[in-house]
Amino acid sequence: MSIDVDPDCIFCKIVAGELPSDQLYEDRDVVVFKDIKPQAPFHGIIIPKSHIATLNDLRDEQAELMGRFFVIARDLAAKHGLPGYRVVLNTNAEGGQVVFHIHMHLLGGRQMQATLG
Ligand code: AMP
Ligand code: ZN
Repeated sequence: MSIDVDPDCIFCKIVAGELPSDQLYEDRDVVVFKDIKPQAPFHGIIIPKSHIATLNDLRDEQAELMGRFFVIARDLAAKHGLPGYRVVLNTNAEGGQVVFHIHMHLLGGRQMQATLG
């Protein structure tokens, strides 16, 4: 199965091994690595190997792939001893998205603050 690649995308470059990352998990379709600028003691970035720019670009048949993100987040949280954690998916600039390759943040290791927006 081929994956979609955007040659200008930094997360595609991480998937291809052209940029280094501190990898936490990998399977056929998904990679997880540590955020380069962690906003919590544990800050992982969960991405599909295939380039999907934003949640708006997700196709209906890719819903199961995104569902697996939650299972991977749950298992990583358990593996890293996080009793509570937060998952975040920013969409488009107005939603705080900076890297346009869909990703889920997994944050933990300290008390999360009440504010979300
Ligand atoms: P977002 O604002 O949701 O697009 O989040 C993008 C995240 O990617 C930020 O938390 C960045 O710190 C992180 N990031 C950017 N470049 C890299 C990189 N090369 N390796 C790991 N994390 C990165
Ligand atoms: Zn990409």
